[in-house]
Amino acid sequence: MTYQEAKKKSLEVRWKTSKCGQENCWCLMIEPEHSIKDDDGEEIYIVGSGSISKEYAEYIVRLHNINIDFINLANIMTKAK
Ligand SMILES: [Zn+2]
Repeated sequence: MTYQEAKKKSLEVRWKTSKCGQENCWCLMIEPEHSIKDDDGEEIYIVGSGSISKEYAEYIVRLHNINIDFINLANIMTKAK
């Protein structure tokens, strides 16, 4: 998929936080729960390393995932009708 398609898809799936690689770092990265790559093999990151602190990263991921879960549930309920 193109970079634009990969970006669009990344907004429709659950996210997770991940460590940047440095030990005891203040930051956390955010990425899709299952990695998404574009045609060039570039992996999509929502937030890269050194950008936001752990607390904000976890909060943003929690909010985003609640929203995704809600959309998925709404879709299931619509189909069940
Ligand atoms: Zn870091």
